[in-house]
Amino acid sequence: MIPLDSSLLVVTDLDGSLLDHHDYNWDAASEWLARLKQHQIPLVICSSKTAAEIVPLQKKLGISGAPFIAENGACVSPDGDYPLADEPGEAYRALCQTLQELQADFRFEGFHQFSDADVARFTGLTLTEASQSRRRDASEVVLWRDEEARLDDFRAALAAHQLALTQGGRFWHVMPAGSGKGVALQQIQQHMAQHGGRRTTIGLGDGPNDAPMLEQVDYAVVIKGFSKTPVVLQRTDTAHVYYTTHTGPEGWREGLDYFLAQSA
Ligand SMILES: [Mg+2]
Repeated sequence: MIPLDSSLLVVTDLDGSLLDHHDYNWDAASEWLARLKQHQIPLVICSSKTAAEIVPLQKKLGISGAPFIAENGACVSPDGDYPLADEPGEAYRALCQTLQELQADFRFEGFHQFSDADVARFTGLTLTEASQSRRRDASEVVLWRDEEARLDDFRAALAAHQLALTQGGRFWHVMPAGSGKGVALQQIQQHMAQHGGRRTTIGLGDGPNDAPMLEQVDYAVVIKGFSKTPVVLQRTDTAHVYYTTHTGPEGWREGLDYFLAQSA
């Protein structure tokens, strides 16, 4: 069992991990959230959600000011400080421009082409949440309308623009090549090591896009997910990897129960 102390760092995916896949509740995790807070253990959100979605959620979870990773790693806040802009930034506008050009060859739609009401309808988010999910900085969410066999051609076309395709829980994400949850976590770990020393990291995630993050942590919790694509890890230290039997926040609790001592 890993002792609960301030040299620990917990990194988590949201959808299907800390948050329920269907209704986004985190009831089963709340005891652990309180325990982590009591022991001053930072909880780093590592999600495909935007900074505009994560900052208000951090407040509800009681972890405001913690570092976070947004947009699947395309956006990183190593010290929790992240000014939210009202207008989309230059990087996002350039990305949307490139995608519009690629629509001549491939059938897909991006979040920038929908209204808040559209996004609310097909995600189950409220209008406010849908609006926050459309306030993007560095990556775009894509609904693929073309044949699955054409995804490889799409990947190649994106690569020519230094862009990459990642599969999220529900949608595809187009992001800068070389970015991802693993690289983003490394950035946060380095920042923290410079400000207080290296931390033992425990990571929790349920989807294939969590794999790079789960490779990067000391202890990995693979939460049972809904994705058709399983989470495949290359690491061979099997004692440091735990596969849960429960899904969502119940699996999240199960994973921390497995690795962490209940008290210091
Ligand atoms: Mg997930």
